[in-house]
Amino acid sequence: MRVLVTGGAGYIGSHAAKALAEAGHEPVVFDSLRTGHRWAVQWGPFVHGDIRDVLLLAETMRAHAIDAVMHFAALADVPTAVAQPGLCWDINVTGTLALLSAMKLTGVDKIVFSSTCAVYGPSDDVPMTEATAQNPISPYGHSKRAMEQIIAEHAAAYGFGGVALRYFNVAGADPDGDIGEEHAPETHLIPVVLEAAAGARPFIAINGDDYPTNDGTCVRDYVHVADLAKAHVAALSTIDGGTVAAFNLGTGHGYSVKEVIEAAERVTGRTIPVRNGPRREGDPARLTADASAAQAKLAFDPNASALDTMIASTWRWMVEHRTGVRLPSMLDRGNRNRSI
Ligand code: UDP
Repeated sequence: MRVLVTGGAGYIGSHAAKALAEAGHEPVVFDSLRTGHRWAVQWGPFVHGDIRDVLLLAETMRAHAIDAVMHFAALADVPTAVAQPGLCWDINVTGTLALLSAMKLTGVDKIVFSSTCAVYGPSDDVPMTEATAQNPISPYGHSKRAMEQIIAEHAAAYGFGGVALRYFNVAGADPDGDIGEEHAPETHLIPVVLEAAAGARPFIAINGDDYPTNDGTCVRDYVHVADLAKAHVAALSTIDGGTVAAFNLGTGHGYSVKEVIEAAERVTGRTIPVRNGPRREGDPARLTADASAAQAKLAFDPNASALDTMIASTWRWMVEHRTGVRLPSMLDRGNRNRSI
């Protein structure tokens, strides 16, 4: 299939483009490069454009004879969404409307949508299933929930088929070292911990150590970006006209902030300076996925999502990307004796 990958120059979209190409599909990346990177587009044509530009989207779909869409283009950074809610709703919701209009104009009728566990908001229903009540708390979570809703309404009205994939905490980098995560500023736990390991920050601040968990720090379900990418490719072949199926993607296993720091020390062989800080507003104590539906329907198998593997691939990516020096792949297995 020829697949338009909106946001395909971003972290998850670029891994999906690679997985599509490896599975014999043809990805065409459409990205504004607002937060994406040109270097991340390596597996097919690139179209530089804004997701709200319905005419350019339709022209691209026609020019490349697109069969299906994977929709990653979004404002995905929660603090920016809180600070600029209008921008969040415009990029996320206006952008999705433009994409759906372009699909309707050109007869493209399949969509895989990049959703998030933020659609659920804080919940005591852990592990979360797809039926967990949805009470998002940030403009980001609200807008993603609205995007799912708009896609479902278009599916019902125009016979589109879709799959919405609700990710938990995405981590790791391409196992071959070709692509990885680069956000500015970086706020996600694993890269922040590794920046502290590399000496690029003086310490990692733990956002609260008085939660009702085993060691007092928040527990999250980390899933490897390469496992997610494969699930997107699998989702393409399950699309059924007129409906949008939703699936959680996580491992079902949670790790605390302190466990992540310990694993990072193990993988890097370095002592990581830590400080205890206050709770971060809106942080639930524990978030884990019940991904049994994705296992059953998408053959989802998060076999790259062992914590040390995710951290080792992020570490390798960070060191190679920032120094330009390609490292031996031993690091990917978390060899703690190799110093870098
Ligand atoms: N966290 C932390 N220190 C940091 C960054 C994150 O203690 O410098 C915590 C954060 O409060 C949350 C967990 O690590 O409990 C995962 O945070 P992240 O931002 O990676 O993902 P989120 O769960 O917020 O989507």
